[in-house]
Amino acid sequence: MKLYLASGNAHKVGEMNALARASGLDVEIVSAKAAGGMPPVVEDAGTFAGNARKKALALRAVLPADAWVLADDSGLCVDALGGAPGVESAYYAGPQGDGAANLEKLVEVMRGVPPEKRGAHFVCVLLLAGPGGAEAVFEGRCEGRLCEEPQGGAGFGYDPLFVPGGHGRTFADLGDDVKNTLSHRGRAWARLAERLRTLTS
Ligand code: IMP
Repeated sequence: MKLYLASGNAHKVGEMNALARASGLDVEIVSAKAAGGMPPVVEDAGTFAGNARKKALALRAVLPADAWVLADDSGLCVDALGGAPGVESAYYAGPQGDGAANLEKLVEVMRGVPPEKRGAHFVCVLLLAGPGGAEAVFEGRCEGRLCEEPQGGAGFGYDPLFVPGGHGRTFADLGDDVKNTLSHRGRAWARLAERLRTLTS
């Protein structure tokens, strides 16, 4: 089964491919780039599921009618910021969507916030859109806290600042293989995989 991934984010494509391989499913992830490019989407739905739906429908519209599309919308919710940047995570430092600038802004905004107030969680919503308009949503969360200075070179986005619960190092320090076993995307994928198993068996 081919799953067309409605994302222009190369890191997400890489993580999704690794998750698909690890799940042992007969699923091939095809990036939007390989399918002709991800159409532009204004992410203004206000919810992760709403934005994921917009991405899925935008890609579906340029693919054959029998294509299966998977969209990911995700973000980091910081307790001390009332859940921000949340659905705005990709654009926290401005509309250009610069991951390094977003990270730098969060480091500064959180400067001086004491350890007990540095709780945060990642959310990932995966939306599977099948032929005939069928849709299903799978959510995963990962609780943790923010360290004070970025640490580690793996991953993307806010990974160098996020320490998952039960660990003493950031996602960017732990590396992709460990991240995938703990992350919001890994957890959402595990739920999706149960559904895919019924579709591919
Ligand atoms: P989206 O592509 O519109 O869903 O935006 C997701 C944004 O949330 C990314 O640009 C990152 O800033 C952040 N984000 C989502 N998932 C992760 C992750 O696994 N690690 C680090 N940052 C993430």
